[in-house]
Amino acid sequence: MDLTLSKRERDLQERAARFAREHLFPNEMLVEEHNTLPSDIFSQLKREVLAAGFNAINHTSEHGGQGLSLFEQALVNEQFGMATGGIWGVAYQPAIPLKEGNAEQRRRYLEPCCRGERTYCFAISEASAGSDPRQVKTTAVRRGNRYYLSGEKWFVTHGDIADFIMVHAHVDGDPAKPTVFLVDKDRPGVHIKRVPKFMHTYISEHPEFVFEEVELGDEDILGTIGGGLDLTKDWFVETRLKIAAHCVGAATRATEIANAYAAERVQFGRLIRDFQAIEFMLADMAVEIMSTKSLVYRVAWQASQRPDRKLAHAHASAVKLQASEMAGRVIDKALQILGGRGYMRENAVERLYRDVRVDRIWEGSSEIQRVVIGSQIRKRGLATYTGWVD
Ligand SMILES: Cc1cc2nc3c(=O)[nH]c(=O)nc-3n(C[C@H](O)[C@H](O)[C@H](O)COP(=O)(O)OP(=O)(O)OC[C@H]3O[C@@H](n4cnc5c(N)ncnc54)[C@H](O)[C@@H]3O)c2cc1C
Repeated sequence: MDLTLSKRERDLQERAARFAREHLFPNEMLVEEHNTLPSDIFSQLKREVLAAGFNAINHTSEHGGQGLSLFEQALVNEQFGMATGGIWGVAYQPAIPLKEGNAEQRRRYLEPCCRGERTYCFAISEASAGSDPRQVKTTAVRRGNRYYLSGEKWFVTHGDIADFIMVHAHVDGDPAKPTVFLVDKDRPGVHIKRVPKFMHTYISEHPEFVFEEVELGDEDILGTIGGGLDLTKDWFVETRLKIAAHCVGAATRATEIANAYAAERVQFGRLIRDFQAIEFMLADMAVEIMSTKSLVYRVAWQASQRPDRKLAHAHASAVKLQASEMAGRVIDKALQILGGRGYMRENAVERLYRDVRVDRIWEGSSEIQRVVIGSQIRKRGLATYTGWVD
């Protein structure tokens, strides 16, 4: 078994680390100060992303992306995940289901997204449909050859800066017909209802949307009527791996900061790292990162080399569960090692502490990942998780 990164992979990792250091980290405090990323800086960073070739790393070159494998994406996302305030979002990765569009939809939505000219948001969650998207009340009622979309969506990340919305709705209110519609934000009947504040300070908002009889046609359906949940599943595999890679990056940066601090901070006449209480925390943090990183790399590599949609879905849940819970534990310890300085917003560890909390909630909470894993153990056997690649 050869676990060495190839030269291409090593170069990619180093380029991503340099991009994070030179372009993302220097702008982090702007997000804190403005409670969002100022639009001129956002545009500038998007241009830098394009120039560095980090746009649409998750799409094929045929569709205007960089065509990176899931493993290569994990290497990049790990480095970008070290940055706070979700500033990694400037390196836009258009939703993977957009590739399921027909040629005209790809020309109108996916390709401009890959070039950074359009921005999407994905609206699934509602007041009564969170972990269980089958409960969505948003409907697209068919009258003649048109659809009329009505409902409310919550927590729509990037909803303020997006110019189109991928809306998950039930055609004719029928739960057997979950369907994703591509809805331009300037269509009559689309409104932002409220822009709530959240725990993290983020480069964009997560508004609530109202749709009032928004007129749509067959040309606005992504994939097929009834195919909405399958599209969402594909999206979950990719985003769960992405979140996991971010979490490894976030935990690594926090640990690096805590480790450096422990090597210079003196109390009671000694470096604090000479207190075993501190050194043991650092040891536990290092081991947690090492084991989780091994898991993320293995699953991302396996999904790249031997694509198996169902297995990827089963494993992505385990990776996301482990990595998000690990990041919470590790960053909490990093903050403790930093003492009062770790509680200051100007310290990246404080920001990472707030940032990773949502990783245990969005794209399926930790409990939902356990539900998926439990059901996969029943269906496919325990070896799905405890066995080895063959
Ligand atoms: C900052 C932020 C950004 C988001 N961005 C988006 C977005 O862009 N688009 C979008 O559509 N959504 C988005 N979401 C919504 C997110 O996906 C949901 O919050 C998440 O799926 C959980 O749904 P819920 O909040 O309604 O919690 P609920 O589903 O009500 O869950 C409440 C609690 O019950 C637990 N629970 C629920 N079901 C089970 C079960 N079967 N077994 C055990 N425990 C269970 C949950 O784990 C949780 O602890 C975002 C959320 C946040 C906070």
